[in-house]
Amino acid sequence: MDTVGSEVRSKIMRSVRSKDTGPERKVRRLLHALGYRFRLHRKDLPGNPDIVLPKWRAVVFVHGCFWHDHGCPRSTKPATNAEYWVEKIRKTKLRDRRAVLELETAGWNVIVVWECGLKDASALATALKESIERRDRKPA
Ligand SMILES: [Zn+2]
Repeated sequence: MDTVGSEVRSKIMRSVRSKDTGPERKVRRLLHALGYRFRLHRKDLPGNPDIVLPKWRAVVFVHGCFWHDHGCPRSTKPATNAEYWVEKIRKTKLRDRRAVLELETAGWNVIVVWECGLKDASALATALKESIERRDRKPA
């Protein structure tokens, strides 16, 4: 299934091919191409979400697979200093969980985009649109 039109798709493909390939920028461009308005890094919200869509009361976190322990091949830990990484990432995951809980309690729709999911821009665009516009939610 595909909910993204061809005009939007070409816009998305252009945005993904551009030089500026930071994961968060990619997601921002995609959301922009889909016509969403958003704000960045709301410091007043738990976990300081990367992208905030006030109209949809949705927040988006763009997570690096390694740092947030996605469980995909990209999140494999180095063999050296194993204990250090385990502890560091355990703390990150704890912070993530707390932020999601606090945001959801406050009525926010929390969407997590994983770095490895950025490869398929079209699929990501569809998934984002569906997550943001979940049927049980209405724009403000
Ligand atoms: Zn991943």
